[in-house]
Amino acid sequence: MQSPVQPSLDMTPFEAVNYFFHRAAAIEGLEDTAIDVLSGTFRELRVQVPFKRDDGSMEVVYGYRVQHNGARGPYKGGIRYHPDADIDEVRALASLMTWKTALVDVPFGGAKGGVQVDATKLSERELELVTRRYTDQIGHIIGPTRDIPAPDMNTNAQVMSWILDQYGRKNGHTTQIVTGKPVALGGSYGREEATGRGVVVTMEEAVRELHLGDPSEVSIAIQGFGNVGFWAAHIAAERGYRIVAVSDIKGGIYAPDGLKVDELQAHLRETGSVIDFPGSDNVSNEDLLELPVEVLIPAALGEVITDGNADRVQARLIVEGANHPVTPIADDALADRGVLIVPDILANAGGVTVSYFEWVQNNQEIRWDHDDVNRRLELKLQRAYNQCRASQASHQEDGLSFREAAFALAVDRVVEAATLRGYL
Ligand code: NAD
Repeated sequence: MQSPVQPSLDMTPFEAVNYFFHRAAAIEGLEDTAIDVLSGTFRELRVQVPFKRDDGSMEVVYGYRVQHNGARGPYKGGIRYHPDADIDEVRALASLMTWKTALVDVPFGGAKGGVQVDATKLSERELELVTRRYTDQIGHIIGPTRDIPAPDMNTNAQVMSWILDQYGRKNGHTTQIVTGKPVALGGSYGREEATGRGVVVTMEEAVRELHLGDPSEVSIAIQGFGNVGFWAAHIAAERGYRIVAVSDIKGGIYAPDGLKVDELQAHLRETGSVIDFPGSDNVSNEDLLELPVEVLIPAALGEVITDGNADRVQARLIVEGANHPVTPIADDALADRGVLIVPDILANAGGVTVSYFEWVQNNQEIRWDHDDVNRRLELKLQRAYNQCRASQASHQEDGLSFREAAFALAVDRVVEAATLRGYL
């Protein structure tokens, strides 16, 4: 089926994510009003975040909170600290959250936050000041039943603790104002590694479908060795897969016989990077994407697989740990070559799934044990994976890709909720 919007080289991140939405909208036969509502955002907030640097000077950075759609429940989405986290990128990420929460069927809408700051250049004290000020500035639109932030790039459980504390000073202590908190503050067991675990769970479904063989025969390259990349590597290695390449912002490493992930983590802790790990060769982040591997897991930035390098990607399976790592044109090119892509809204949905579990536990003031969380997560993602395959099969005549089938399913669920509420 022809999409009403054609992919182009100069699409912004939000336009690119909406390209996939428009395709689903055409398949589902959505009315113009529904298309207008769901291709836009419900609310956007831009705030100044002034803070005092350690040297006594003042600096002002800008932050955003975008609420894309709340038909299925409170807005939900992480907060990213990155110089590129401008309004367009935050819109794109917020809309992905709407489709992601619908796809894994957790009762949330979609939102995202961003602060345009290079967190790697801030001291711990400066990071705390930025976080507390940003929390104050967006405090009137978030809330435990309104909009619940979580970690994303360059934010973590410590940042969530500061948000919880700052929000609590004005509004009274509310555990469920954020997810991805430390366990000591009401976080859930299994949340820290949940996104990486979900990447591995969905990867395993695809590995089975593609008959890629025993785990030891499946080589994996991972771009990014932060929360998502490290845990995906750790859990995949635990299950016997061969992690042959990983990278971080400084570059990558390659060892065809496999990397010892725990030793690599120690090396990262000591040296600040994965590069120069004994027994491996240094490679660039660009080269890592083109290595001869069975599985490629982008787990850092968006838009790293483009029209410029898609034809050199050798992996048979791409599992999108990162959000929006493949541009629409590259997506088409890879599909033409028969490369299976497990899309971001499914592959990295483990994080928001366990965030939901955390919120449920907070609401009930109980704590599930670690195995219980992991088991529930695996079941939920396996179910979502199978539902995407069923959606693909039911649209067989349209020849949908796996991503398109996932979007069609998610869009259908959001439209149903919005219609029931009476705003579509
Ligand atoms: P993180 O900050 O913990 O780690 C990011 C990693 O990417 C680090 O290893 C960093 O060095 C590397 N990196 C940064 N810039 C890079 C560059 N230019 N080239 C190569 N590597 C670079 O972030 P994270 O939480 O692991 O998030 C990674 C991706 O996963 C993002 O796209 C994020 O939106 C997505 N994601 C995260 C979660 C979550 O629960 N944390 C959930 C869903 C999706």
